[in-house]
Amino acid sequence: MPRQRRLRKVVAPPNFKGYKPYGARTRSIDDEVELLYEEYEAIKLADYDLMNHAEAATLMGVSRATFARIYESARRKIANAFVEAKEIKVVYGNAELDKDWFLCNHCMARFTIPVKMPKDLCPLCGSQKVESINK
Ligand SMILES: [Zn+2]
Repeated sequence: MPRQRRLRKVVAPPNFKGYKPYGARTRSIDDEVELLYEEYEAIKLADYDLMNHAEAATLMGVSRATFARIYESARRKIANAFVEAKEIKVVYGNAELDKDWFLCNHCMARFTIPVKMPKDLCPLCGSQKVESINK
């Protein structure tokens, strides 16, 4: 029986859908690296928020060993994309977001929606081009 994959807590989704290199002499457009939400979160907690691995693992609801594996995978993917001038695309993975998050495809704002507000309008620009970024 396949083992149930445990969800990793991610406090907020990344603020972008991906990264593109520019000025690369050779680059194939279908050559891209998929970075999982939880890998983004691991990099953010360890290298941006400067947490130690034990704190970051606790926050994401995983063991230290699992955190170390996610973090290592994230670093390798980013290094690969960086050196080989590949695009990075951020994909959902096994993340569990702590709230319902939405993305406005018009102004690119990410937001959570308070219960009283309509769920299909961007609170910033009023656009209806809103998509849920929770699975
Ligand atoms: Zn908007």
